[in-house]
Amino acid sequence: MPPLAAHHIKALTKLSPHLPITSSLAHHFTDWTGKYPSRSYEAIKTSTDQWHGTCILRPANVEQVSSILKYATTNKIPVVTQGGNTGLVGGGVPIQEDEVVLLTSAMNKIIEFDKDTGIILAEAGCILETLQDHVRPHGYEMPIDLGAKGSCQIGGNVATNAGGIKYIRHGSLHANVLGLEVVTPDGKVLDLSRSLKKDNTGYSLKDLFIGSEGTLGVITKVAIESKPISKETFLMLVGFQTFPEVVAFFRQAKRYFGMLNAFEFWDQVAHEQVVHHLKLQSPLPTCPFQVLFETEKDPLDFLEESGAEQCVLADSVSQQLNLWSLREGIPEALSKCGKVWKWDVSVPIDRMMSVVENLEGDIVSGYGHLGDGNLHLNIVKSSMSKEMERSIYAKVASMGGSISAEHGIGQAKSEYLPLSKDANSLEVMRNIKAVLDPAGIMNPGKIFPSASKEC
Ligand SMILES: Cc1cc2nc3c(=O)[nH]c(=O)nc-3n(C[C@H](O)[C@H](O)[C@H](O)COP(=O)(O)OP(=O)(O)OC[C@H]3O[C@@H](n4cnc5c(N)ncnc54)[C@H](O)[C@@H]3O)c2cc1C
Repeated sequence: MPPLAAHHIKALTKLSPHLPITSSLAHHFTDWTGKYPSRSYEAIKTSTDQWHGTCILRPANVEQVSSILKYATTNKIPVVTQGGNTGLVGGGVPIQEDEVVLLTSAMNKIIEFDKDTGIILAEAGCILETLQDHVRPHGYEMPIDLGAKGSCQIGGNVATNAGGIKYIRHGSLHANVLGLEVVTPDGKVLDLSRSLKKDNTGYSLKDLFIGSEGTLGVITKVAIESKPISKETFLMLVGFQTFPEVVAFFRQAKRYFGMLNAFEFWDQVAHEQVVHHLKLQSPLPTCPFQVLFETEKDPLDFLEESGAEQCVLADSVSQQLNLWSLREGIPEALSKCGKVWKWDVSVPIDRMMSVVENLEGDIVSGYGHLGDGNLHLNIVKSSMSKEMERSIYAKVASMGGSISAEHGIGQAKSEYLPLSKDANSLEVMRNIKAVLDPAGIMNPGKIFPSASKEC
């Protein structure tokens, strides 16, 4: 598509605050992985002057979002909503040159927080960590936590149905988001933000927007229930020689504790990279597999009973933070090794590492949220063949797994979606999209496979 016509840019920038496009804003046109630059990315990055082919709008309120979408629908102008731009599937960046980038970062007010119920109502552009810091002094924690917390926004979290390390404890955002305010492509504002725990009034429209990845509308407010912080927690790092031992340990821990606050694992390859690139101290430098798990009950008897030989129990808050950085630093450490190809899949827990076996690459590593059966397979390699990518997704599908556990579909996985959604379900999804977005302006090229590319 050609760049956006000048008269449209003029009209849109009258409807909302905007950022003049110079090379310093090129990062809005590519994603965190660097694998999905938009068609205009190079032109913007290298331009010495202002680039006039598209616009970045930064609305301050829901009314401005509404007027932007109304204008875009009337004039068939594509719009990509961008939160913190930490997504890992190329969902929050434009593809074509004529796409308007709608930043939610100016809508960043915490509207209210109820100290009795823990329910927080916030604008979509609030950074997740800001919300975590807001509720903590009152004895609460957000039901979601992830490595990108310092940059990702609550609107982006909801739009991707993000998972993370608290999923095993608090469940998905479908369980914790109580309400939303959403602007649909025709400019209508849907008030789905009543902060009620029970609201059984027909179709759950808010659930439609959780995980919709900017393809159905713009989320402008989120009501979400934060949870009382556990009075006491115990964090342990345990080392294992084989993956079956890890699985047996997880099952034993689940039976013993009933509820786990977190249960993460990583392999030796990931561990070496995090220690090397982030200069972290490792208490267990040579174990083929490591598990980091958090409980609310004292684990000493359990650890004795389980026969765990290599084990460290954090004895201070700073040691807890150090142990967490061994896990949370893995994506960053791997990204320092070269070009990283990522698969975020869910499979039966005992078969997780079989997805990682026999793959070629400079570095091949598996880690993830073991308690949720969520594997992050990472391969560092200068280029990735379609055959290899497809064969990994096909293997996951043959195990009854999902091609996307928590990162969403975006551009990265759209052609593989039929492996995890049957044809009838995909048709219903397309019909819903057509009803809400008949002009097809919201985030084109994301989620849905184009007819020619379906595998
Ligand atoms: C180091 C690192 C660790 C990560 N760990 C995890 C993890 O543990 N679990 C996990 O699930 N993800 C993880 N991620 C991925 C990412 O952080 C999440 O997907 C996050 O929810 C994206 O939020 P964002 O604000 O950055 O959204 P963006 O990347 O800006 O956008 C993501 C998608 O949501 C849409 N969108 C954004 N805001 C809105 C809105 N207000 N309304 C409508 N659509 C919108 C965009 O169009 C796009 O399709 C990680 C990423 C990094 C870099």
